[in-house]
Amino acid sequence: MKIKTVKDMNLVNKRCLVRVDFNVPVKDGVITDDTRIRSALPTLNYILSQEGSSLIVMSHLGRPKGEVKSEFSLSVVRERLQKLLGTKVIMAEDCIGNKIVKLTKDLNPGEVLLLENLRFHSEETKNDPEFAKKLAQNGDIFINDAFGTAHRAHASTEGVTKFLPSAGGFLIEKEVAFFEPLVTNPAKPFVAIIGGAKVSSKISVLESLLKNCTTLIIGGGMAYTFLKAKGLNVGNSLIEDDFIDVAKKLIKDASDRGVEILLPVDHLAAAEFSSDAEVITINSEMIPDGLIGMDIGPKTLESYNDVIAKAKSLVWNGPLGVFEFNNFAKGTLGVAQLVAECRGITVVGGGDSVAAVNKFGYADKIDHVSTGGGASLEYLEGKELPGIAALK
Ligand code: AMP
Repeated sequence: MKIKTVKDMNLVNKRCLVRVDFNVPVKDGVITDDTRIRSALPTLNYILSQEGSSLIVMSHLGRPKGEVKSEFSLSVVRERLQKLLGTKVIMAEDCIGNKIVKLTKDLNPGEVLLLENLRFHSEETKNDPEFAKKLAQNGDIFINDAFGTAHRAHASTEGVTKFLPSAGGFLIEKEVAFFEPLVTNPAKPFVAIIGGAKVSSKISVLESLLKNCTTLIIGGGMAYTFLKAKGLNVGNSLIEDDFIDVAKKLIKDASDRGVEILLPVDHLAAAEFSSDAEVITINSEMIPDGLIGMDIGPKTLESYNDVIAKAKSLVWNGPLGVFEFNNFAKGTLGVAQLVAECRGITVVGGGDSVAAVNKFGYADKIDHVSTGGGASLEYLEGKELPGIAALK
């Protein structure tokens, strides 16, 4: 999919309205991770470098559900943005209305206005056309750089494109550049590593990946439903009985297509689901009654070495074990390391796997760490993301 990007637009003397994803984590009024703000800087700085342009930035923060709630005010972002841009950022008290439009028109070239939380208006998530039109009055041109919300057709991501010339920012451009080949024409061998808790939330992505990948590595809690589908005892591990037939079908489809599926061949287990539970190594595919599979075992990790090293393209979504508990983080840590060492094109998407590569310090050794959890998953499912489709 070819999208229009900010470089295709003439921004000279324009009010540039930019949708970013500044939905940053905030604790006690302090931003605890500003990655999302930093990710938008290349686009924002590029716009500011254009002669005569001014910048109007809009985002959501948290889930105020259509009500004005001070704890979700974007004013918490203003200061950090100001510091990172190295220029003054003016805070608007709302995101629509005559007063706000006037503020945008009064901006001098190079000035920055940050609009208040879009989700203080319930019309935003309803993609209300009137609301989208009002947002559009805040700019002459619209740039979307919020990959994290691109899978939602909201007024500020999709609706607004009907009223303004529109293009994607550098962040969206980069996300598309990495994800698009994975769903259309990946370099092979293409290895997909899918972990996480449940088959139910990942089944669409598994089915979609099966069409293109060479090897599908399945780990995490979802692996146990697959092992059970193969007739193996998995003790008290996480199981979705409703998905056993689905898992059986996926195993058969993979075999029909010549796709290799790698399931855990050994495990780290525990008698109870707790952070300080004793680690019991199970040197077999099966888990005895009374024990819970918490992480992949050392033999399983070793079996990934060659496959991951030889991948020409690779995508990873979801942890291989309960990595939040130090005792059961080895599998996820090991996979993060193998992915970091892989010389093919490596892409990591999904909140927990991104958290894992950051936690273990491998993010800068991975070609692309996606900024969108849900959006990256939907991309891999082969779905059209409304926020991106609108920029074609
Ligand atoms: P997801 O959001 O579907 O990617 O799932 C992430 C969650 O899966 C993390 O919170 C992990 O702790 C959890 N998880 C990974 N492996 C297991 C397992 N063996 N049993 C239960 N939960 C797991």
